[in-house]
Amino acid sequence: MSEKMKNYIEEAEKDLLHTYNRYQIVLDKGEGVTLYDIDGKEYLDFVSGIGVFALGYGNKEYNDALKSQIDKVIHTSNYYYNVPAIEAAGKIKKASGMDRVFFTNSGAEAVEGALKAARKYAFLRDGHTDHEIIAMNHSFHGRTFGALSVTGNPHYREAFEPMIGNIKFADYNDIESVKSLVTDKTCAIIMETVQGEGGIYPATESFLKDVRALCDEKDILLILDEIQCGMGRTGYMYAWQKFGVKPDIMTTAKALGCGVPVGAFLMTEKVGQNSLVAGDHGTTYGGNPLACAAIDKVLDLFDTNHIIDNVREVSGYLEKRLDEIKDKHDSVIDRRGSGLLQGLEFDHPVGDIINKALENGLILINAGTNIIRFIPPLIISKEDVDKMISILEPLIY
Ligand SMILES: *Cc1c(COP(=O)(O)O)cnc(C)c1O
Repeated sequence: MSEKMKNYIEEAEKDLLHTYNRYQIVLDKGEGVTLYDIDGKEYLDFVSGIGVFALGYGNKEYNDALKSQIDKVIHTSNYYYNVPAIEAAGKIKKASGMDRVFFTNSGAEAVEGALKAARKYAFLRDGHTDHEIIAMNHSFHGRTFGALSVTGNPHYREAFEPMIGNIKFADYNDIESVKSLVTDKTCAIIMETVQGEGGIYPATESFLKDVRALCDEKDILLILDEIQCGMGRTGYMYAWQKFGVKPDIMTTAKALGCGVPVGAFLMTEKVGQNSLVAGDHGTTYGGNPLACAAIDKVLDLFDTNHIIDNVREVSGYLEKRLDEIKDKHDSVIDRRGSGLLQGLEFDHPVGDIINKALENGLILINAGTNIIRFIPPLIISKEDVDKMISILEPLIY
């Protein structure tokens, strides 16, 4: 490592709040699926900023769209209409099949809005203020209080108690566990369609269908968090589309802006007409012209560049190569995931392997202590998969 990079890292450790154990590289620029640190060293990126940079780095059309919006106007206010927000709203409705959208600045903020919409829907129905929400063990929904309250990892919550009230946790992919928690106060069930941070666990088709049926029967709103698994990552624009199990409310973020900080929560017309109204919710930045120019262009490029076709083509190959690794190495106990969101579970912590991969020019990340997560830009090729495997495999123990 150069003196220059060492100095930057020292400075960062002095100035930034210690909320992350950062990998020891200072990144400088990106191109396609490659990142470069400030010493000019090259890395194959299988993290994409945790599922954000779906289109790869330095996409010219995307960059040009942002530049041209910057020259027009970056921000106005949600008290006025702006064209990028109108365009982006139309396109995300079409991509998701949902009816109403509220743009946010982040994933956690999208979850907050989704929870508020669900509580308001139930409030308008019965006037009560003691509604309950069922969330899942091992889920992750973000770090703000509402999102944290439905995050099924006690370790993340403990020091910050009390959380928002009336949250119960069920076991994912276990419908009986969900049913046992339902009462006449239950207003929503929230879950990821594929659990990301919690260890890359896809929902089973039967679980999704059973939860949907339960929600229909009791007028409970199903909130699907598609922040990590959405935006084409599983080979469908949104992971639930694979099963035809439509949520009442959906959250999306991460790859939605491909690098510009955005998120959104969307709902059906029925929820839209019976929940949040003027004065109930707001945001200064959410859905501003720059953010929406990004969303608008991202959704265009998903179409014109056939991003989902590429995911479908390459993900089968990635699965195959990871399965070969699993079969060859006793320490690898499972491979699971959906599309280009895959996990390789080891019988020991994976921190060493990830650090060594970084030294060898490959960026990987974990999802839990023993699981390596593969969440590359959606434009990767089979050759990139081969290159990744050729760096990773010799490091496995
Ligand atoms: C990343 C993530 C969030 C939080 O998004 P932020 O933009 O970091 O607030 C919420 N839910 C899921 C499933 C995520 O992966």
